[in-house]
Amino acid sequence: MTKNGSLILVINCGSSSLKFALFPAGEQTPLMSGLAECLGEADARITAKINDAKTTEQLNGQGHAAALDVLLRILAEHDWLTSVKAVGHRMVHGGEAFKASVVVNQAILAEIEAHNNLAPLHNPANLLGIRTALAKMPEIPQVVVFDTAFHQTMPPAAYLYALPMALYREHGVRRYGFHGTSHRFVAEEAVRLLKLDPEDHGLVIAHLGNGGSATAVLNGKSVDTTMGMTPLEGLVMGTRSGDVDPGALIHLARNAGWDINEMDNVLNKKSGLLGISELSNDMRAIEGAAAEGHDGAKKALDVFVHRLARHIGGLATSLPRLDAVVFTGGIGENSSTVRKLTIDRLHVFGIALDDAANEATIRGKSGVISKGKGPLAVVIPTNEEWMIARDAAELAGLVAAH
Ligand code: AMP
Repeated sequence: MTKNGSLILVINCGSSSLKFALFPAGEQTPLMSGLAECLGEADARITAKINDAKTTEQLNGQGHAAALDVLLRILAEHDWLTSVKAVGHRMVHGGEAFKASVVVNQAILAEIEAHNNLAPLHNPANLLGIRTALAKMPEIPQVVVFDTAFHQTMPPAAYLYALPMALYREHGVRRYGFHGTSHRFVAEEAVRLLKLDPEDHGLVIAHLGNGGSATAVLNGKSVDTTMGMTPLEGLVMGTRSGDVDPGALIHLARNAGWDINEMDNVLNKKSGLLGISELSNDMRAIEGAAAEGHDGAKKALDVFVHRLARHIGGLATSLPRLDAVVFTGGIGENSSTVRKLTIDRLHVFGIALDDAANEATIRGKSGVISKGKGPLAVVIPTNEEWMIARDAAELAGLVAAH
């Protein structure tokens, strides 16, 4: 189905970074991947990884356009550039307008820009990546893949907040959900791995990385998720609080003089594992310190797992049947400890851990880690970049729609 030798470039552009990967159309393993970081700062640099060999080049304070120039030069040096037939871009927020990936044109760019206020930190950076790539490769189709799109199938019962409806109508205040590209990939893989009926299955997927969210998937569609209007709601994350009583913030505004910037900073950057442990935002460090008796790390792990199990239980109520709980993301794929502590709390659903399988299923392995007759517990490594590449290849007409 692949047009001979077509390559897809995937770009995930942040405010000072640009992640990239290059996939042969229809294949899940990249030929090259890498990261340009500290863009616009003195230490700006770009690192490309080809066959496990990394090379880094300084960008001398330059920004995104220079990073893309170097990337295109690397592609040309390997004779890949002329085979690039589509570019796939990650976009954090598509609001209600984008329910699937799209090929970029001027009208689409304007529509995306109109959503900037929903994700003021991420969307403008993502857009910068698209505009820069369009300027350098005007003849190549550019496809945008939205983190929110997969969750557009949520029913109003799951996406509405119990706030005055005018706030939804006039300001778009509702739950959108994020990590949709990862949840979509993992849901498809779970159906394949577990030989489930694509038209009749129920999953809860826990994507646990530096950011984390869990999603209920019914017959391939998202029906509820833990992140909300922004990626702040829901699970405990590396530095993000997840769920907090809004009344606590009103209290802090009244009694501690907190303003919007203070709330933003503390809830997004100083909370989560870091806030509770007063040690680290990194689960490896938390687990290590907890094992040595560090009180803050133990509490951070306890709250993380408690909240996760509670949300998995809540999400299951959106499904007629729970076939499997699936773990993915850096923590979900590697932390047998978090998985064990979480599954032990899901006793009420009849899920039982297979300790040996749990310990063995790390570092990119997928498989079932439960035993007995209850719902399965499963690990499936995510591959968001490939999902973006697949959408780009399909929308550019390089491969048949899956
Ligand atoms: P991600 O954002 O998906 O790259 O995930 C990052 C998170 O995964 C960090 O909190 C890491 O500490 C965590 N992580 C990666 N490897 C391990 C591991 N072996 N054990 C526990 N946590 C891990």
